[in-house]
Amino acid sequence: MNSISRTPKTSPITDDYDISNTVLGLGINGKVVECQEKRTGIKRALKVLHDSAKARREVELHWRASGCIHIVEIIDVYDNTYGGKRCLLVVMECMDGGELFQRIQDNREGAFTERQAAEIMHSICVAVRHLHDSNIAHRDIKPENLLYTSMQPNAILKLTDFGFAKETLTPADTLQTPCYTPYYVAPEVLGPEKYDKSCDIWSLGVVMYILLCGFPPFYSNHGLAISPGMKKRIRLGQYDFPEPEWSNVSPEAKNLIRGMLSVDPAKRLTIHQVMASPWVRQHAHVPQTPLYTHALLRDAGDAWADVQDEMTRSLATMRVDYDQVQIKALEQSNNSLLNKRRNKVGA
Ligand code: ADP
Repeated sequence: MNSISRTPKTSPITDDYDISNTVLGLGINGKVVECQEKRTGIKRALKVLHDSAKARREVELHWRASGCIHIVEIIDVYDNTYGGKRCLLVVMECMDGGELFQRIQDNREGAFTERQAAEIMHSICVAVRHLHDSNIAHRDIKPENLLYTSMQPNAILKLTDFGFAKETLTPADTLQTPCYTPYYVAPEVLGPEKYDKSCDIWSLGVVMYILLCGFPPFYSNHGLAISPGMKKRIRLGQYDFPEPEWSNVSPEAKNLIRGMLSVDPAKRLTIHQVMASPWVRQHAHVPQTPLYTHALLRDAGDAWADVQDEMTRSLATMRVDYDQVQIKALEQSNNSLLNKRRNKVGA
């Protein structure tokens, strides 16, 4: 974890950057535009957020997570008045290579292989390990938030958008100062924070599934946004590995997906277990089996937008469900030892 506490600059951003009208992308919280650092001439991306507690948390957690090769780096943050409103202006490295699946779809150099999928998964896992080890759950890992640095063959894949990220240290953890080290803490006290991390693992499972075949594990029957049927299938873990797309995919890959999409968050693999699996650890040696992914993504047309919408909605539902579990667990953690410690800390 980066322990340096950083504060946004209050000087005008226009002292240091030229802001252009070129829009790089639109998000739910505003737009991302191109800008240029005056001193170096380097092109950057600027995300404009209206100041709020939520925006501050997004910036703080993203800033803290910067410094990992597979996470989009924050270069500068300004606290300025912009269009009459107080805003946080987040200057990031510019990701010129577009989204992960766009690149696979546009790829003209032969078939996309299982080894390439494993290499991509390894990159994303490095980002998630960095976050989870820093007590941050991203909670919004999905195709739109996985971007490439450039169009070049050596481009690096990075995770961005910390709009739903959450600190995973629970109040119980903060009580663990050396003089209050508990002999025993009920699992429900320390457990709930695992839900947030398990949300990221579920996302990794879905991304890995799509990488290996070109369609998602769960989808609506009738092209509806998120049908009750789909919710049920997600909750019951009803998905399969249909032929012919999955016929040649290795059993190791399928097993790993099963571990990541496990319906019980407590049984889902941790990021360290995922990274210890031979498929991810020895990604460079995974068989170069050609996959259907490129062809199916190329032919997906409008259906790809539905896939993205469905993942967005599934993650939103999961965050709400898991937040509720945690609130309940904390209310129920009414054991006498914890209460004693609570009183001591409160004193
Ligand atoms: P929101 O939190 O509002 O969804 P995002 O951070 O996901 O916003 O950004 C919205 C879009 O802007 C992204 O999907 C992407 O297309 C583009 N974008 C975001 N960050 C960058 C960046 N660093 N470089 C280039 N484009 C970016």
